Amino acid sequence: METSAEFKTKGNKKKGMTAQTRLILAGLGISTAFIFLSACFATYSISQNMNNAYKNFAQVLAKTLAIEGVEVTKEVPELAKYDALRSNSVSVLKSNDDIAFIIFKDNKSKIIYSSKDDYPEQAERARITVSSPMIVKNLNDSVNVGSVTVGLSGNIMDKVSSTSKLSLTFVFILTWLVIVGIVYMNSSIITRELRRLYQGVKKISSGEFGYMIDSKDADKEVKELYSAFNDMSEKLSRYNEQTIESLTFERNKLESVLMSIVNGVVVCDNHDKVIMVNNFAKKLLEVEEEDILNTQIQQFCDSSGEFCFADKITQFKDTPLDDESAPVPFNIEIDGRILKCLISPMFTRSNSYVGYIIVLIDVTKDVEMDQLRSNFISNVSHELRTPVTVLRSYIDTLYNFGNDFDFNTQREFIGVMNQEIIRLNRMVNDILDFSRYEAQNVRLEKTKTDIIEIIEDAVNQVQVLAKEHDLTISIMKEPDLPQIYLNIDSISRAFMNILSNAIKYSPDGKRIKIRVERSRDGEYVEVSVEDQGPGLSEKDQKKVFDRFYRVENATHTVKGTGLGLHLVKVTVEKHHHGQVFVNSKEGEGSTFGFRLPINLPEEEIEEYIPKNQLPAESEA
Ligand code: ATP
Ligand code: MG
Repeated sequence: METSAEFKTKGNKKKGMTAQTRLILAGLGISTAFIFLSACFATYSISQNMNNAYKNFAQVLAKTLAIEGVEVTKEVPELAKYDALRSNSVSVLKSNDDIAFIIFKDNKSKIIYSSKDDYPEQAERARITVSSPMIVKNLNDSVNVGSVTVGLSGNIMDKVSSTSKLSLTFVFILTWLVIVGIVYMNSSIITRELRRLYQGVKKISSGEFGYMIDSKDADKEVKELYSAFNDMSEKLSRYNEQTIESLTFERNKLESVLMSIVNGVVVCDNHDKVIMVNNFAKKLLEVEEEDILNTQIQQFCDSSGEFCFADKITQFKDTPLDDESAPVPFNIEIDGRILKCLISPMFTRSNSYVGYIIVLIDVTKDVEMDQLRSNFISNVSHELRTPVTVLRSYIDTLYNFGNDFDFNTQREFIGVMNQEIIRLNRMVNDILDFSRYEAQNVRLEKTKTDIIEIIEDAVNQVQVLAKEHDLTISIMKEPDLPQIYLNIDSISRAFMNILSNAIKYSPDGKRIKIRVERSRDGEYVEVSVEDQGPGLSEKDQKKVFDRFYRVENATHTVKGTGLGLHLVKVTVEKHHHGQVFVNSKEGEGSTFGFRLPINLPEEEIEEYIPKNQLPAESEA
């Protein structure tokens, strides 16, 4: 984005020089012209004065030579005059380089002596010629005896003139340079201050609020300008911080709400780009934020590599926005988890459509529970139907043809019927116990009991069944175990469940070891049943105590409801403050058991069951 400051600079650049620069240059031009003219005038007047002075000098020289000429020729014979004038002239010529020639003439203008004859080259340099009469002064009058003409080359004048021109030029250049320097420095000081201000404005316009201009070495007026600027910058910075703070606070608030929701939330803009994803969604979809942010949601794949959102989003987009029917949920599967997804459109306050939100709810447990429940119902109806059918056919046979059978056969028939009734009874009890034990306000009456008796009792009950399957059951009990407070019925049934499972799931001819001992920490009595059955996988071990859970549901090889171990857990953990456990290895056997606290808390001992909730008398 271009700032206004940038615009201004560009505008100025286009026009060329600034008014200030033009003014400076004009000033410079005028002062240069003024200095130049002054220098010319000075040179001209100096050379004029020099010329006049030189001419005067020539006049004086000519007069002096005339006087000397009169002197040296006075009372000298006519013939010797030439020599006298010659020797005088030669000495004068030699003494001064500037004198080009000297000519002496008599009063009839006849040349007596001319130095041109002796020094013709020097004579050629003459530029100024001056003459003076030779006057002999007597007492009463003066007689003109001749004249002297002097030629001067003007060398000295030239030298002086050129020297003065040079010095003047030098002075002119120096003055000019000084002026230019001063103008430059002055303007650069002014522009430097303006540049600083410009820099500051540029920083502010680029969002760097709080930028300060250093006003240390600035002029008073500029200092005031700078401090006004700094003031403004600081205010802007404070305002900016406050705005950012409040915006960040609002954003953080919204973000933390979004992040803390225990359902997954994925927000997409109206181009299907993922713009926000909360922690739970990352966990559910098993992605890192950087892998999903800014990607098209349609490209997201489920565990089977299918684009799990693509079709549903097309469907969602095909539905008119004003259709107020609730969004249709759909399920996707990610790594064994079932996620229920709900897409809903997203609008701003002004009601413009900006994208959509996908809410992800982990329904794995619910789906599993539904499955377990439906299995339970089918198992229970099957389990109920079997003994009832068996009983009906045996009773029918005995009723119609009882007399045809001998006593032993009749007894055998009754024995089978008894077994079936026991099985039926146990199952009904399990179902009743299940609903009763789960209830919040139910408390089971406890009495101080020797747990060994319960165990031996149960073993006696299953001996016949064990023999049928050629199973050996052994009990190893630690001597002097303390009596503990427990509800005899429920603990008997819990132990019976574990023991009958061991019998049910053990192949014929194997061993079942029962151990009753103190736990290592001495706080519990531990009962365990070890078998040599099929064992359980780690995953199944975690779930066997869940209600309705059955490993065999997939195969239906062994019958059952999946309630037995769940009841054991509820009885032991909820009603006796103990713990259940399982140790197993697939193919090697399992050890199921529970621990009951030796010292039950006082308040738990005086427990009772309200009369109307007492269980029906169990025969199992
Ligand atoms: P029921 O409720 O009629 O007893 P069930 O025996 O199937 O039916 P649970 O007693 O709760 O149900 O047992 C749950 C699952 O645990 C069983 O389906 C079985 O697969 C597994 N299981 C229990 N005991 C053993 C064991 N000793 N050896 C191997 N698997 C066992
Ligand atoms: Mg069972």
